[in-house]
Amino acid sequence: MTDFDTLIVGAGIAGLTAARILASQGRQVVVLEARDRVGGRVWTSRSDGEVVDQGASWIHGVDGNPVADAVDAFGMRTVEFTVGSYQPDGRPIAYYSPTGTRLSDEATERFVSDIYSFNEYFATTIATSAPHTSFGEAVETTFSQLKWDDDRAMRVREFLRHRTEEQLGVWLDDLDAHGLDDDAIDGDEVVFPDGYDELATHLAQGLDVRLQHEVTRVTWTPGGATADTRHGPFSATRIVVTIPIGVLKSPGFVIDPPLPEHHSQALDRLEMNAFEKVFLRFPHKFWDDDVYAIRQQGEAGRWWHSWYDVSDAHGSPTLLTFAAGPCARETRAWSDEHIANSVLDALRGLYGERVVEPDRVHVTRWQDDPYSRGSYSYMTVGSDRSDHDDLSIPIENVLYLSGEATWTDDPSTVTAAVKSGHRTAEQILGRPVPYDTIWAGDRS
Ligand SMILES: Cc1cc2nc3c(=O)[nH]c(=O)nc-3n(C[C@H](O)[C@H](O)[C@H](O)COP(=O)(O)OP(=O)(O)OC[C@H]3O[C@@H](n4cnc5c(N)ncnc54)[C@H](O)[C@@H]3O)c2cc1C
Repeated sequence: MTDFDTLIVGAGIAGLTAARILASQGRQVVVLEARDRVGGRVWTSRSDGEVVDQGASWIHGVDGNPVADAVDAFGMRTVEFTVGSYQPDGRPIAYYSPTGTRLSDEATERFVSDIYSFNEYFATTIATSAPHTSFGEAVETTFSQLKWDDDRAMRVREFLRHRTEEQLGVWLDDLDAHGLDDDAIDGDEVVFPDGYDELATHLAQGLDVRLQHEVTRVTWTPGGATADTRHGPFSATRIVVTIPIGVLKSPGFVIDPPLPEHHSQALDRLEMNAFEKVFLRFPHKFWDDDVYAIRQQGEAGRWWHSWYDVSDAHGSPTLLTFAAGPCARETRAWSDEHIANSVLDALRGLYGERVVEPDRVHVTRWQDDPYSRGSYSYMTVGSDRSDHDDLSIPIENVLYLSGEATWTDDPSTVTAAVKSGHRTAEQILGRPVPYDTIWAGDRS
């Protein structure tokens, strides 16, 4: 048994941020991580010189964002790619009609303008919606007020469905009406040609991180906490648990005594989503040049509806699409080859025989990952925005929950992970700490 000031469970971005701040203030911190690597849901694979971000790719808006500031301070390269939040426009997007013909500029403008008109009414519907209203119900209430013809309504309804799937990996009837309230993007979005995981590597520098130390039980009293691992127990004055809520809710992770009712009820109302990435690298580009994204409307795009040209970041002709929500659940049991063939069939509906065989395919499997159990959190119907922040209320100043799901303003992101880790460190230290403490002292 070893005694520390603070135990941190999880070496994802939240855990590393909290650990780095606490260590910089002289606290004795150890980070216990189940995997054989740091970063958690920020994970880059590298093979044959190909850099693939299997987890997070984007900073969703660099303005006033501590993640962007950290990335700058660490000297990480970025590429602008402002289409990662299912924007209808702003950057060139090639829309294809239900029959596979490319929409003219005028037709695209009409469609985009419909989305903006809808959103104005939709904001009021959501603000006035009763508790337990789903996102899907709020959409239908808004359409009943607009009285648009079927085709117009169908395309915008479908856009909202796809946005819900891509942003949160959930079917719109399973999401609370307020589930996308915090979806504002400030400034450009960027991705990482050298891999997002460099952020985790920088944050972990100089910290005491114990890899392959899965914690199965946390026991706590007002006097301190113990974490059980197969390497033995670790004890400290306090403990910060940053694991994804999918793991936190699972029977394999025990907190004894259990979380207080206020926390456990908030936790019950949040869920892990189903969201997987599919990267297809081709020998050459067969799609329109100079577009950020390709989108298919209509039934043909029920599952595979959006492709992102990530060639610049990857350094080779590459499209990224997502299996999200129902599609991710249905294709979970499929082989990578089966998934790739299904995506290629959808692309042939747009580009016919110009579609060539990919020379490399990557499919993520976050739903089957025992240390994640999904990709990120969403608000189930009946949840409240404050459920996120409520999770972060310190328990007897011994047990702290942190991580993306505990941050209200921009949950489900790396930004939320950094902000929540920073807040937890401030809670423990009992005073404000500037964000730049996170990157001060980096030796890159
Ligand atoms: C496919 C995908 C795409 C995404 N895209 C984006 C994006 O573009 N932009 C964005 O901002 N965000 C994105 N996200 C979300 C973002 O990655 C997460 O919100 C963020 O990384 C969460 O950080 P965290 O520290 O809260 O949790 P995690 O990164 O999950 O860290 C928790 C750590 O705890 C460890 N752990 C779990 N169980 C145990 C245990 N029992 N014992 C010890 N350790 C344990 C895990 O291995 C992990 O390292 C994406 C996520 C995924 C999966």
